[in-house]
Amino acid sequence: MKINLAKYAGFCFGVKRAMDIVIETAEKNNTKIYTLGPLIHNEQVVEYLENKNVFVIDSIECIPDKSNVIIRTHGVPKRYYEILELKECMIIDATCPFVKKIHNIVHKSYNEGKQVIIVGDANHPEVIGINGWCENSAHIISSVEDFGKINIEKPLCMVVQTTFSLKVWNKIKKFVKTSCQTVQIFDTICSATEDRQNEAEKMAASVDTVVVIGGKHSSNTKKLVDICKSHCADTYHIETVSELPNETWSNRNIGVTAGASTPEWIIKEVISKMSEEKVMEVTDEISFAEELEKSLVSLKTGDIVKGVVIGITPTEVYVDLGSKADGIIPIGELTEDPSVSPEDIVKVGDEIDVFVVRVNDVEGTIKLSKKKLDIIAGQKKFETAVETKEILEGKIVEAVNGGVIVISNGTKVFVPARQAASKFVQDLETLVGTTVQFRLIDFNPRRRKIVGSIKSVTDEVVAKALEEFWASAEVGKEYTGTVKSLTNFGAFVDIGGVDGLVHISELSWGRVKHPSDVLKVGDTVKVYILALDKEKNKISLGYKRAEDNPWEIIKTKIALDDVVKVKIVRIVSFGAFAEIIPNVDGLIHISQIANKHIDTVSSVLKVGDEVEAKVTEFDVENKKISLSMRALLEPEKVEESTEEAAEEVSTEE
Ligand code: SF4
Repeated sequence: MKINLAKYAGFCFGVKRAMDIVIETAEKNNTKIYTLGPLIHNEQVVEYLENKNVFVIDSIECIPDKSNVIIRTHGVPKRYYEILELKECMIIDATCPFVKKIHNIVHKSYNEGKQVIIVGDANHPEVIGINGWCENSAHIISSVEDFGKINIEKPLCMVVQTTFSLKVWNKIKKFVKTSCQTVQIFDTICSATEDRQNEAEKMAASVDTVVVIGGKHSSNTKKLVDICKSHCADTYHIETVSELPNETWSNRNIGVTAGASTPEWIIKEVISKMSEEKVMEVTDEISFAEELEKSLVSLKTGDIVKGVVIGITPTEVYVDLGSKADGIIPIGELTEDPSVSPEDIVKVGDEIDVFVVRVNDVEGTIKLSKKKLDIIAGQKKFETAVETKEILEGKIVEAVNGGVIVISNGTKVFVPARQAASKFVQDLETLVGTTVQFRLIDFNPRRRKIVGSIKSVTDEVVAKALEEFWASAEVGKEYTGTVKSLTNFGAFVDIGGVDGLVHISELSWGRVKHPSDVLKVGDTVKVYILALDKEKNKISLGYKRAEDNPWEIIKTKIALDDVVKVKIVRIVSFGAFAEIIPNVDGLIHISQIANKHIDTVSSVLKVGDEVEAKVTEFDVENKKISLSMRALLEPEKVEESTEEAAEEVSTEE
């Protein structure tokens, strides 16, 4: 006799794990434990669990407050966790890690604004649970036709029920890939059922007799029976050893398989009974769960592993580690820099090194840290940098008591206030967010002392810049500078680390009462060197431009004897000053206002009047222009003595 036990007989990995969790919890607690729905559909298992004080409860509302509740492999909606927490229940989460992975994908995609599509049976508890991780907003489909009804304009995320038909799923996947560009497909199907059926089919075709063990109402067991019967007519379906026919099993080549809800002890009992006649030859005792476990990477705290980023939320990064559960890097374990978002650091598809902080088998999660590895690498670099006085780069992320915190190579460096810049900085907050260069001045990670100096680098930069400035500075050279301060006598302008003075007289060709009439602090201005004293480090700057000199402009505008239109701007006892162009006035002497004697200027003219006058004197060198209105009027007989008296009046102001 030869007995061939199928490799994939009995509990799948998820169910075996759930059973282990339940039994362990039951053995540790003397109180009643509830499972939300039956853990598996097997009467013997239900009875076994009841003996261990584990009872099935169908409705979450019926769960008494403060009780112990086991969530089965199918998982539950997110809301259930909240309800159980409100009831102050102890939650023992036995959701299959494969299902938990779907919850994470759906939750993240929903938070990113994607429309979730679940391929599966809308009434299956697993699908109901998954939908509860996107506020029940998913489209649940089970055929290609169903997909046609979905609006594909929105970004989509498609997952599949773990036990869904592989054939239909492949068909839907193929259709979706060719008809829609905005969908992200996650192949979350679990091959446990498929593998069990394929193996049973092969086995049935090569043996004389098949024994299928499993519940009479278990659909997956019935499916196994059908498959085996179609290849081996001598197939038995039994629920327990008591149903094993009283036959002679010797001289037969027997195949044994079992449904997903059949516990190992029932399979062993059946095999033992059959082999009582002769020594049993079991060809394959390795269970699916063991195989699966073997194929997955097992991790423990402190491991450093590689993983691939599969999802990013504002607070977490999901990493595929090739293990049962996905790794999660909380934002606080991603970086020391609180101002950046996860997307600034990693992208989906990136392969990264991570440190395993904690493995939580019950929750099916692995807490990871990228920050820890960055710090280790950063500190290694710092060890050399402090010796060689290497200039490092970093970002100021925080102003703290007495200084600022710089993040460099993933590591925090304290920079005291006096070392934060070349000049004293009143408000260190103004530095936050800037990228800086610095040197380490103290490095003692054991004592958590990593101190840097930005000033050490900026002092050098400033000294070099000054040296270069003075070497190239010369009269007439132009600079673009920034107005640093204003005084009554002028404006100080920073022209690259050196402050030069623009005297008030050099600010404008017109009259300036105060430098603030022309400039304000912070203005960017073009200036040129008027004079410099390299020994005393003093520079006088010019701001007004030669080409704007109004006495140069006037030369191109008027000539002697021209008649010009002018505006009266000032009245004095001996005449009126009239503006010819901005900042150039000419004098109309009182004797040149009219063709007869006038007692006062204001009896004829007032400020603001616009009049025509002839240019009777044009002396640019001495900045003197005389105008005459009288020259444009018909001569009138006037008393000689009056005319002479008028000519004696000086034209000087
Ligand atoms: S997902 Fe697969 S391994 Fe998990 S419980 Fe379902 S069938 Fe079992």
